[in-house]
Amino acid sequence: MSASDPSCLFCRIIAGEIPASVVASTELSVAFRDVNPQAPTHVLVVPRRHVANAAELAEAGAEDLADVFATARAIAHAEGLDDGYRMVFNTGPRAGQTVFHAHLHVLGGRDLSWPPG
Ligand code: 5GP
Ligand code: ZN
Repeated sequence: MSASDPSCLFCRIIAGEIPASVVASTELSVAFRDVNPQAPTHVLVVPRRHVANAAELAEAGAEDLADVFATARAIAHAEGLDDGYRMVFNTGPRAGQTVFHAHLHVLGGRDLSWPPG
C-alpha cells in the first residue's frame, strides 16, 4: 500500500492538482464538498493515505480511521447538523462505490429517509 497514487482522483485533489472546495484539512485527512451534492451539506472526508475503501482503511491503523471520524464530526458541527446527519462509506462496486480512494460521505441539511436505496 503506497501513501499516494498519482492516477487516483482523490490523491490528486489532496495534492492540490485538481481543484476542490476544501472545508477542513488535518495532518491525516482532507475534507471537501462533493461535486454532485445529494443534500445541502455533502462533504467527503478522505484519509491522506491512499487506501481503496473502508475495509482497507480499517486495516491501515487506528490513527487514520479516528482522524477521518473526528474530522467528520467537526464538519457536521460546523455545518449546523447536530440535529441529524448521515455518514456513509460505499464499499465496493455493489454498494455503488465509484472512486476507489476511501471516503466518508457526510450528508445533512434535509430529512434523510431510511432504508437507503
Ligand atoms: P462513491 O460513489 O464512490 O461512494 O462516491 C464518490 C463521490 O465522489 C460521488 O458522490 C461523486 O459525486 C464525487 N466526485 C466524483 N468526482 C469528483 C470530483 O472531481 N470532485 C469532487 N469534489 N467530488 C467528486
Ligand atoms: Zn488515492
